[in-house]
Amino acid sequence: MNNKNTKQNTVKKSVSYSGIALHTGVRAHLTINPAPESSGIIFRRIDLPDKPSVLATAMNVVDVRRGTTIAAGNAAVSTVEHVMAALTAYNVDNAIVDMDGPEPPIGDGSALPYVEMLQKSGIEEQKADALYWSPSEPIITEEGVSTSIIVPHENFKISCMVDFAGTPLGTQYYSAEITRDEFSENIASARTLCDYKDLEQLIAMGLVKGGSLDNAIVIHDGAIISKEGLRFPDELVRHKVLDLVGDFSLIGRRLKAHIITIKPGHATNVIVAQKIVQTMVAENK
Ligand SMILES: [Zn+2]
Repeated sequence: MNNKNTKQNTVKKSVSYSGIALHTGVRAHLTINPAPESSGIIFRRIDLPDKPSVLATAMNVVDVRRGTTIAAGNAAVSTVEHVMAALTAYNVDNAIVDMDGPEPPIGDGSALPYVEMLQKSGIEEQKADALYWSPSEPIITEEGVSTSIIVPHENFKISCMVDFAGTPLGTQYYSAEITRDEFSENIASARTLCDYKDLEQLIAMGLVKGGSLDNAIVIHDGAIISKEGLRFPDELVRHKVLDLVGDFSLIGRRLKAHIITIKPGHATNVIVAQKIVQTMVAENK
């Protein structure tokens, strides 16, 4: 993160993006609007009566099976992690994200469309100081196959290891300070992974109507069958880092922490983020 900028930010102007939603297959529209200081990132379902809002916080997460879903009242928004990751990398603390359905457009399965939106809108500095969170002691979480260790750090850093034994993807490791440039150049365009078997199952269930070989790295019997091939040899772990940035943004603060994680997933990320939010509330900071 850019430490010189210690003020909160929002977007300079509203900016929109539309495309196919992965699960429903309908055309979805998403608009990022400016928001007042200290309001956080708020998703608004403009297709529902009274346009209900959902604050992007770990405490509002209701589902982590295929992406991270947040909800409040009757309003749910799924797969928030990619747009949240882009907002975090651009130090956007406050924004209202309008959506006309439960899902954002999937785009190419990466955070690139959202980075391009923020480049278009520009960033507006606000008057209030940015709020940070740093762990006072290491936070260690073991959950299923995932391990996460969070230690204090002067900036926001992620070190991540994934292991796809028995596939050409193998073991991958990525470690970086999450700055705007690092995210835009090396992380944002990494796409999500999808196993062809799961894709078939989801199609049979009537889900992933918008899914194609264009918006994920698809592997079948250990081979990559997506049209485009890989964007980076270690695209998989880069996408895991992207998801980590998005999921940990649900803490609602900028991070001065090093997240060291082995085989992370949305479930573990959200459990840790919730733990941090609870600690913040308990410590009243
Ligand atoms: Zn993802």
